Amino acid sequence: MSTPAPTRIREAAFLAGAARADQLPADDAPELAFAGRSNVGKSSLLQSLVGRRGLVRISSTPGRTRQINLFSVDVVDTGRLVLADLPGYGFARVSKAERRSWGPLVEQYLESRGTLRAVVVIVDARRGPEPDDEQLVEYLRSIERRALVVATKIDKLPKNRVKPAVQAIAAGLGVRAYGFTAVTGAGRDDLWTALLRSCARSANDRGPPPSA
Ligand code: GDP
Repeated sequence: MSTPAPTRIREAAFLAGAARADQLPADDAPELAFAGRSNVGKSSLLQSLVGRRGLVRISSTPGRTRQINLFSVDVVDTGRLVLADLPGYGFARVSKAERRSWGPLVEQYLESRGTLRAVVVIVDARRGPEPDDEQLVEYLRSIERRALVVATKIDKLPKNRVKPAVQAIAAGLGVRAYGFTAVTGAGRDDLWTALLRSCARSANDRGPPPSA
């Protein structure tokens, strides 16, 4: 298979933070949402995708960790996209009330966002999907949202275990999975290619992709 050309980002900027659905900005460009358990490596992935150190750190500043943070990204040859950083879930140290608060805002967003093309579910390549991740993928299937999985931190696996681990995650969840590591950026270009392909689909074509 030929190596995809690296995706180049012309510009990336923080767009808005929404703690309530009515604070979401108008949906005017293809959007990709990123979800995962707290600490899985979501910020590191987003930072690597946009190639801007510091930009995504906005999402982890006090008061912003429980909201949806949106970033506007201008991709060379493709145009403007929006990346939505969803609050991390499943973190034992947050209060029960905080854990419950993941639901309404995110569910409303996932169910009603017109321009949302795909949801990237991030899992730790070594641990594989946890029950929270399985529930999210099942939920996305039930609302007919396209999901794809990023198996991150593949640098922590011996090289010959990476492909089988990613394949097992894809088979277990029934969605395509992409290996990635923020340490070297390996997997970034293949992932961008898949993300841009999802963005090119019409909003009406939201069915799940065939499993890998
Ligand atoms: P978030 O809470 O999901 O946004 O996770 P972060 O991106 O803040 O990462 C959580 C921790 O995992 C940090 O200590 C990161 O340095 C580390 N981390 C993130 N991605 C990788 C990766 O690909 N490989 C390794 N080895 N560590 C990573």
